[in-house]
Amino acid sequence: MPLSHGRPYLAIPGPSVMPDRVLRAMHRAAPNIYAGELVDLTARVIADLRRVAMSSSHVAIYMSNGHGAWEAAISNVFSRGDKALVLVTGRFGEGWAHHARQMGVAVETIDFGLASPADPARLEAALRADTAHQIKAVLVSHVDTATSVRNDIPAMRAAIDAAGHPALLLVDCIASLGCDEFRMDDWGVDVMVAASQKGLMVPPGLGFVWFSDKALEEGRAADLRTPYWDWTARAFPEFYYQHFGGTAPTHHLFGLAEALPMILDEEGLAQVWARHGALARAVWAAFEAWGQGGDLALNMPDQACRAHSVTAARIGSGGAGQLRKWAEEVAGVTLGIGLGMVPFGDPREGDFLRVAHMGHVNAHMTLGVLGVMEAGLQALNIPHGKGGLAAAAGVLAVQA
Ligand SMILES: *Cc1c(COP(=O)(O)O)cnc(C)c1O
Repeated sequence: MPLSHGRPYLAIPGPSVMPDRVLRAMHRAAPNIYAGELVDLTARVIADLRRVAMSSSHVAIYMSNGHGAWEAAISNVFSRGDKALVLVTGRFGEGWAHHARQMGVAVETIDFGLASPADPARLEAALRADTAHQIKAVLVSHVDTATSVRNDIPAMRAAIDAAGHPALLLVDCIASLGCDEFRMDDWGVDVMVAASQKGLMVPPGLGFVWFSDKALEEGRAADLRTPYWDWTARAFPEFYYQHFGGTAPTHHLFGLAEALPMILDEEGLAQVWARHGALARAVWAAFEAWGQGGDLALNMPDQACRAHSVTAARIGSGGAGQLRKWAEEVAGVTLGIGLGMVPFGDPREGDFLRVAHMGHVNAHMTLGVLGVMEAGLQALNIPHGKGGLAAAAGVLAVQA
């Protein structure tokens, strides 16, 4: 019997749940794009984008998704043939490397596999070996959404400094901004990219690039830069329309102007990070209990290197695929597919799933997802340990 009538829940790692008030803020007539409210509101949005990144850096906004933000960062930093070192901890690290390579950057990668964070010692060794300082920048995902590995960004900065290497540090925070602790200035990040539809709780459609003075200077000669992607006019416009390389993303700006104060002024960034941490630990506790009695496991063994916004896991013998189908059809919850854990088309694709706990998500939503999963495990006769939901409830009980 389907029990899915009611409000559906998309528990995939982006797009995330949008607050009704963000949607309401967007539901309005087209504004003047030359003067008035939108212009004033944009200044507030940019100031808040700095606050959410804990940065005094420059901000460029693009009408793009995260892939566009990747290309924006690449095009403003590199010239054709420049060298990049990409630290790969899953599909999204691979993706950024692929875009850079296709754009004409000489990309070297260090692949840390699918269940380990980037190792600062290997980064330091690679930079020390680059005695001619040909590597212009190091690229890394803060959270790789495919594996749910969270990389230690301060350790990457420390490795670059320990090697005495001038490379810029470029970080993809698309899946972590507004979820996991991130401090752009304190952590010595030169360029950071994010998008609207994950921790920031706004529909997909905006990509953001934050960049330091150092990145601005070093990127001045970048010959991959094209007029649309040029971050200079966007960050330092003489006229309002230059912020966006043309017509402003009017309604996304209204949405952001509603969402960012929810994070920064109502809940507070530290509390937002703490909430994501607690919900993540509840999800991990459920999986650990289920894994006691069946072929289920979290992807990332080391708790210190797990994302707080998304959890990747394996349920063997195609169990993950069956559970996703059951959760959506019977219970109205859509779980994320596994991504990049096995080659495309491999029959084991059905062994992987991801649960998002990203953005506008609270205890009852996360316990609801876990309760649905536990019911599905029973309904589908997938062997699993008892007490997953109780373990999750126990984690949240001690947080409160
Ligand atoms: C979602 C995501 C992307 C891609 O963003 P799109 O908006 O889907 O283009 C890139 N990197 C990370 C870490 C992500 O989570």
